[in-house]
Amino acid sequence: MQDSSELDNDDSVQERYERAKTTLTPAQVAIGVALIAALGFTLLFVQDPMVHDAMHNFRHGAGITCH
Ligand SMILES: [Zn+2]
Repeated sequence: MQDSSELDNDDSVQERYERAKTTLTPAQVAIGVALIAALGFTLLFVQDPMVHDAMHNFRHGAGITCH
């Protein structure tokens, strides 16, 4: 069940990518790449404290006190 739904998702993404490749101009591709890069950059900053807190909670969960 899960495998087939993942396959369907891959197929639709592949189809969209193939369609986008033939319709997007280089400028649109550059804008898209820049947006994705900005999003990834933002996610790194947003996730860093979350990862820190998760590791912090994990340390306390494991019985290791840090403060
Ligand atoms: Zn702590």
